[in-house]
Amino acid sequence: MTDKVVAELITAEEKRQRNGLELIPSENYVSKQVLNALGSVFTNKYSEGYPGKRYYGGQINTDKVEQLAIERAKALFKADHANVQPHSGAPANEAVYHAWMEPGDTIMGMELSHGGHLTHGRPGTISAKLFNFVRYGIKDLETGEIDYNLMREIALKTKPKIILAGFSSYPRELDYAKFADIGREVGAVLMADMAHIAGLIAGGVLANPFDYGFNVITTTTHKTLRGPRGAMILTKGTVSNPLKTVDKTIENLPTLIDRTVFPGLQGGPHMHTIAAKAVAFWEAAQPSYHNYCLQVLANAQTLSQALMNKGFKLITNGTDNHMMVADIQTSFGFDGSVAEQVLDRVGLTLNKNVIPDDPLPPYKPSGVRLGTPAITTRGLKEEHMFLVADWMHQALIKKNDPKALDKLAKDILHFANSFPLPSDN
Ligand SMILES: *Cc1c(COP(=O)(O)O)cnc(C)c1O
Repeated sequence: MTDKVVAELITAEEKRQRNGLELIPSENYVSKQVLNALGSVFTNKYSEGYPGKRYYGGQINTDKVEQLAIERAKALFKADHANVQPHSGAPANEAVYHAWMEPGDTIMGMELSHGGHLTHGRPGTISAKLFNFVRYGIKDLETGEIDYNLMREIALKTKPKIILAGFSSYPRELDYAKFADIGREVGAVLMADMAHIAGLIAGGVLANPFDYGFNVITTTTHKTLRGPRGAMILTKGTVSNPLKTVDKTIENLPTLIDRTVFPGLQGGPHMHTIAAKAVAFWEAAQPSYHNYCLQVLANAQTLSQALMNKGFKLITNGTDNHMMVADIQTSFGFDGSVAEQVLDRVGLTLNKNVIPDDPLPPYKPSGVRLGTPAITTRGLKEEHMFLVADWMHQALIKKNDPKALDKLAKDILHFANSFPLPSDN
């Protein structure tokens, strides 16, 4: 007996992913061996605890696979400690906040409309209810430079326990050394949420916050890192003896984090996901992955230039990483949600997004966000970026011409089909 309904939905989703061009910068295509690990019998196993200290029997293989994921993660990011159990990025951030802070404590993160993530204190989230978020933001919208002077002033005044560097819609590099100076001055733990760019750091094409004195990095494993949906928490610095009583000192941070993830926040780890993380970390350590990261950046450079040449206004006028945010309202006179729908119709998938200090509301924001990780995995190179920019432009200026959109959809489908999915191999 088979469940044909879900089987058909899986086939349909695979077809959708194959037939279109995936421009959502937080998405990617995993390899066959990552998919195989995710679909493996490790999903049957309960493993509460950590390698060597479990609450269930039968851990001979799970201990090995989790330890492997830990060692590979540490090597990739030059970390001293890794917790690979967080189910996703949001609970990973939550775990760090609770490991180091008490309700009511202050944490400093990026202004949300300037690029900060929901888990950086969006009103209505659990963390916003429990902690006091203060903000830094962009000083100059043309360059994207952060206002580090104002950041320091606010930090001195509010004494945050954590200073959080990280974003989900910011196309520039952060100056980690400046964060570190301010963090040291006010005695804050330096935390980097690298969910979007972890792969590019692992691949050696973007700076690693640990090289600038950061204490903790959280990241998802499914964005540029190209692994299964999930997350991990890395720390740098002395690792305390986990059997001692755990005061909130920096040496104890790794142990505090482990205890907050389990049993503080989660029960049994998802061992099939951890096995898939181990595989993805292995892949990210191969020379071919470094080349992939170089191509992601090269494609983003070319695509951003090609879009600007077509009249797209890009926030900060370009990108240093894999993503860009386009101000559709200013460029075309309609909002980002309209653009998202029109582009979806022709097979170009991206997401509507707020722009800094957006005058429009988040469900109908001024912008869209797009990026190159997934299309680069498909095999697209610089020369294809001109086609993508042209298709985007054509679709938006002909959004009320169904015939023109049908023709574009056909061209894009034909083009996309000439690039295999990595899971085909
Ligand atoms: C994607 C993202 C997260 C959240 O990850 P989920 O797995 O969706 O919970 C957290 N922080 C940043 C900066 C992100 O971009």
